[in-house]
Amino acid sequence: MKIAIANSIGRDKHGNYIIHSPSRWSESVKSRFHWFAYYPWELAYLSSLLKQETKNNVKFIDGCLMRLDKKAYSKHIIAENPDLLIIESATRMIEENVELALEVKAAVGAKLVFAGPHASAFPQELMDMGIDYVCVGEYEFTVLDIVRSKKRSEILGLYPNARRPLLDVKKLPWPEDIDVNRMEYGHPGEPSSEFREIQMYASRGCPGNCNFCVARHVYYARANWRPREVADVINEIKYLREKYSLMEGVFFDEEVHNGDKQFILKLTGAIIENGLSDLKFEAMCDVRFLDEQVMIAMKNAGYYKIRIGIESASEKVMKVMGKAIDLRKVISTLETAKKIGLKTYGTFIFGALGSDINEDEKTIELIEELSADNLLDNLQLSICTPQPGTPFYKYVLDKGLLREDVKESDFDGGSIAVLDYPDYTHRQIEKTKNKALLARDHVFLSRKIKDNSFGEWIRLIFRRYGLIGFLAKASKRLIREIRFQIIKWIK
Ligand code: SF4
Repeated sequence: MKIAIANSIGRDKHGNYIIHSPSRWSESVKSRFHWFAYYPWELAYLSSLLKQETKNNVKFIDGCLMRLDKKAYSKHIIAENPDLLIIESATRMIEENVELALEVKAAVGAKLVFAGPHASAFPQELMDMGIDYVCVGEYEFTVLDIVRSKKRSEILGLYPNARRPLLDVKKLPWPEDIDVNRMEYGHPGEPSSEFREIQMYASRGCPGNCNFCVARHVYYARANWRPREVADVINEIKYLREKYSLMEGVFFDEEVHNGDKQFILKLTGAIIENGLSDLKFEAMCDVRFLDEQVMIAMKNAGYYKIRIGIESASEKVMKVMGKAIDLRKVISTLETAKKIGLKTYGTFIFGALGSDINEDEKTIELIEELSADNLLDNLQLSICTPQPGTPFYKYVLDKGLLREDVKESDFDGGSIAVLDYPDYTHRQIEKTKNKALLARDHVFLSRKIKDNSFGEWIRLIFRRYGLIGFLAKASKRLIREIRFQIIKWIK
């Protein structure tokens, strides 16, 4: 059997570039100079699993990496002539991804498997549209059962059957790197990664419970944290380094890299023992499990940056969200990281449940303070989007807060707010997020000029995007700075 495993379409019908990250949230950008691709890791694990466990002809295709629109992608997949087509889609691109799949089905008769957040939240709707198999939650072993022609009613995780117990990450092979070049995801790479880094995963899951989290609620349906064997992680790094001469580092992009202190101490020790600490590492971390000992171990092992989810300065919002983080702990962790010499990156959201203008303004103030005090080197700002399948979505739906004119493609965490609170409209949420963006860019620009790191930034942008890309990015920054100054002047 010929199997095509396909990531989402990479350009929507309006020409926007899709940055697909379905277990978090997918978004889009207008300019190709702001485009990058996340390695589609769940699909990539599925691909290597099917190649390892079956004798089928498996082909992994990434429409996002290739920046293909529906027409070009459809042609590409049809040329593969698959018997089975597997797609993981977020709500952001579900309409076009279903259209694409049905086109392939009509052309070559492929059976269709859909997985991911939208499929998990609306399985019957997808079946009604002509999808043959709909997976709910974590799906690698569910698809393996489908491929092995196991009886439908006996496949856990296949709608309408019960969910499958969470998989043992130690049983997964290393993810796909034959049909795609993993280095291509590192160049230009995630915008805040400062080196040519390969996206890797030393664990899966999160012990947290944030009400907006797709990974926690839709993929896993419970709090969990599952580390891989340290030796296996080390062997994968060695293999990647050997294979990709351009590789400068690793971005551990799992939900929580540091879910257990002993695991991180063991991993960092093994990185040093195996002579890998000259690589540059960065990782998504949970502030609750970061202490000085852990951060020193990370620094010694070559980690140059920690990324943490700070989300909001509002205690009220954090409480409603279900993220019990004390702001004092966040600040002291950032201080310790800076003292040790680690760079820091924080993620923030606007329009979360419990927020209003005043609560989100507190977050802007915090961003300005942390940036001005040099405690944050970079940060990510998003609109908290109620993705289907999460408790946030359910609440929004129950209370009738979803905008009436909202389309599936509006579930884009980058720039569109899909709900109106009684005292906080979607326009206000979008405006607040944009205000935070202007404030962030202003603080960073001022700092770069002050500490003479402007040249370093220019070199980095040049290396990644070339002259035209640099000009596009620099002019965007300049326009934002002018807008910031005008707003300040009007006030
Ligand atoms: S801490 Fe992050 S990964 Fe964990 S539940 Fe919250 S948003 Fe999800």
